[in-house]
Amino acid sequence: MKSWWLGGLLYFSIAGRAAIPVGGWLESNINKVMSATEPQTVLVRLKRRQKEVQIKGYGLQKEKGLRFVASSSGFNHVTVKLSQLKEHPLWQLSWNEGRREQFVGKKLQIKGSSLSISGETVPKSLHLMARSDGMIGVIAELSIEEYLAGVLPEEMPALWPIEALKAQAIVSRTYTLFQLQQRRQQDFHVESTVLDQVYKHKQPSLELLPGQQRVQRALRETTGVILKDTEGQYFPAYYHADCGGKTEEPKNVWGNGLKLGTVMDESCPLSPHGRWQKSLTWSQIKKYWPLKKASDEWISLSISKRTPSGRVRLVQLQSQWGETLNIDSQTFRRKVGFHKIKSTLFYIESEKKSVVVFGQGHGHGVGMCQYGARFLAGRGLSYQKILKHYYPKAVIFEPLLLQDQMFEKNFGSMYPSISIQSYGPSVPKGY
Ligand SMILES: [Zn+2]
Repeated sequence: MKSWWLGGLLYFSIAGRAAIPVGGWLESNINKVMSATEPQTVLVRLKRRQKEVQIKGYGLQKEKGLRFVASSSGFNHVTVKLSQLKEHPLWQLSWNEGRREQFVGKKLQIKGSSLSISGETVPKSLHLMARSDGMIGVIAELSIEEYLAGVLPEEMPALWPIEALKAQAIVSRTYTLFQLQQRRQQDFHVESTVLDQVYKHKQPSLELLPGQQRVQRALRETTGVILKDTEGQYFPAYYHADCGGKTEEPKNVWGNGLKLGTVMDESCPLSPHGRWQKSLTWSQIKKYWPLKKASDEWISLSISKRTPSGRVRLVQLQSQWGETLNIDSQTFRRKVGFHKIKSTLFYIESEKKSVVVFGQGHGHGVGMCQYGARFLAGRGLSYQKILKHYYPKAVIFEPLLLQDQMFEKNFGSMYPSISIQSYGPSVPKGY
């Protein structure tokens, strides 16, 4: 069977009979069709700065020109180091059989199977990048779905309700595509840490544990589903652990970004894990923020500005001799530690010897709240309803294959022989 466009209406040929226009139901959903030109691979930075890299695996191949040259078909390992030859990076490779080679270049690509670096399994295609400081950056190239299989279990417990896992799968997929577009000119698209999404490579396995089966199911049942804005651009699908009761606008966290809309989460203020406190002594604070006069002392830490949603925007330090310092709340979190000051939803009690920061929630508060999603899924909400709650301005795009299943379900008895094999046109701009 084939589908094609004619005069703006979608037609299907049905078992050799005359084509029937099915403009109504499908036309209203056509914006949900994914383009066949959707990016397929993502570059993930696994290691930022390595003095040397030892790669083990089967059938290691090194890129030479535009070809890949095999070292041997069996198990092998290679140690890669970098030095400078005049202005140019010089790669030095030592193979386990004693062979050595070297060449000049900014990048070295290695492929193989069952690869590992320092005992940690990694994807089968690696880019080793020469940094300007003489160190090596390691970047993996892999398909987006393979990448997501290594992200999902790190970003959400696999035993949480399946609809929450599906929502997370769609959010992680969209976040990846959004960053891929933002950083398409860079050596890599996403970090493998909390700076983007935590990623740990998963070797394909025939025997899956129950948690792994749930992760696979969440990914499989949402394959290709993404969030876009009304212009057809990838939606900035940020997410965080616990909003503490209300989500936040990106502008109030990072100083810029589109208005995404904020929502209330009735479950989060009640969650006991969401409350935290951190004590800081004045000498610790002095270490983080030195005074202009060494003999002066900080005597007060207070909140000087909050965002409309109630999060802290600025804190203020005051010294006994009149020095004042305003600190942006994200800078305050970063300096003391993101895992210690877990969010910007806090109040401060200043005491003689120390200050205590009492807070709730975990993370920046933008976009989907994971604990809230867990709660909503536990109440029986679908992933579509969860996503609509946290991203009121987003549109859920579903690939034609999923629509095909819906179509069969809705119209199967009317048109029993209809099937949709090809992708529709790429209506949304911005691909
Ligand atoms: Zn929440």
